[in-house]
Amino acid sequence: MKYPFLDLRRLHAPLMEAEKQACARVIESGRYLHGPETAALESEMSRMHASRECVAVSNGLDALRLILRGYIATGRLSPGDEIIVSANTYIASVLAITDAGLTPALVEPEEQTMNLSAETAERAVSGRTRAIMEVHLYGTPARHSAIREVAARHGLLIIEDNAQSIGASEHGIPTGAMGDAAAFSFYPTKNIGAVGDAGAVVTADRELAAAIRALANYGSDRRYHNIYQGFNCRMDEIQAALLRVRLGHLEEDRARRQAAAAAYAQTLDNPLVVPPATIDTMTQVWHQYVVRCSRRDELRAYLAGQGVGTDIHYAVPPHLQPCYATLPHGPLPVTERMADEALSLPIASVTERQAREIAGIINNFK
Ligand SMILES: *Cc1c(COP(=O)(O)O)cnc(C)c1O
Repeated sequence: MKYPFLDLRRLHAPLMEAEKQACARVIESGRYLHGPETAALESEMSRMHASRECVAVSNGLDALRLILRGYIATGRLSPGDEIIVSANTYIASVLAITDAGLTPALVEPEEQTMNLSAETAERAVSGRTRAIMEVHLYGTPARHSAIREVAARHGLLIIEDNAQSIGASEHGIPTGAMGDAAAFSFYPTKNIGAVGDAGAVVTADRELAAAIRALANYGSDRRYHNIYQGFNCRMDEIQAALLRVRLGHLEEDRARRQAAAAAYAQTLDNPLVVPPATIDTMTQVWHQYVVRCSRRDELRAYLAGQGVGTDIHYAVPPHLQPCYATLPHGPLPVTERMADEALSLPIASVTERQAREIAGIINNFK
């Protein structure tokens, strides 16, 4: 492929030496879990997110599971409670909800942000609703300022799934510091990616953070004293050390993605292809650059023929997966159309110039 969809080696080449040094430092230290790198990563994440507490964990799905189970452990959610979540999310958001014995209420996204809208969230509120899971998909924040009013009116918690939008904001408020608790993923392809699995929880709620720290460590609040039937959801020191290097370059990565996205937006000019909206009240971080096309599969094959790698996020929404065959939900035509029309263009490892070239190729699609 002349334009690979994602080239992680190329993306990380400039930081490779610093990353090797960070990993070597851990190997030589003899401290591989719960050490100084993890603690330092937690304080750096905390500083980025309005000084909220951060708990480094094993991955993004575990971060979501720990938030929900932490709320159950502290008595603020109970099995059977309903959590409103956008139906077009990655399945992990929904898996965390059902794993905790909670009930997902799947709602349609809005066209512009491709995220939950305040209107569809409001309509989904029932007597059993206790929380809204705000997913910031593809690097674009959900409309938190509007959704927050719905949550306040009905006394609901807001849990952010910020796996895809570290460094984004709405009205200057960073995703991950908007709601009551937020989950982050450092899966290798995320905007800040580890060389393996890693994730984090950020919250202003000290009681929740303490419960999550315990739950993630066998349920123990101090050595050999188990207050919960917990899990092992630790982050490795080696991942923490490497993530600190990458987190230090978040702004460069964001600026590169934004430049490529702007190049696409300026150059794309094909009535068959709808580019993602640029929203002036938001800082978008372009985890994915998702265009929509009613002839998506033809466009994808055409682009492959021209040397352009693409991907689909996500071809099958959670409610159409076999594991959720019996999950109750209303009609979800917007979600299903997005799944049929979405096509992700190369964004993380392309230059502005390559983005212009790819847009030019798309403009020739008939
Ligand atoms: C990646 C992702 C997750 C899960 O993160 P992992 O680290 O892969 O477990 C959860 N939600 C969303 C929206 C994601 O994109």
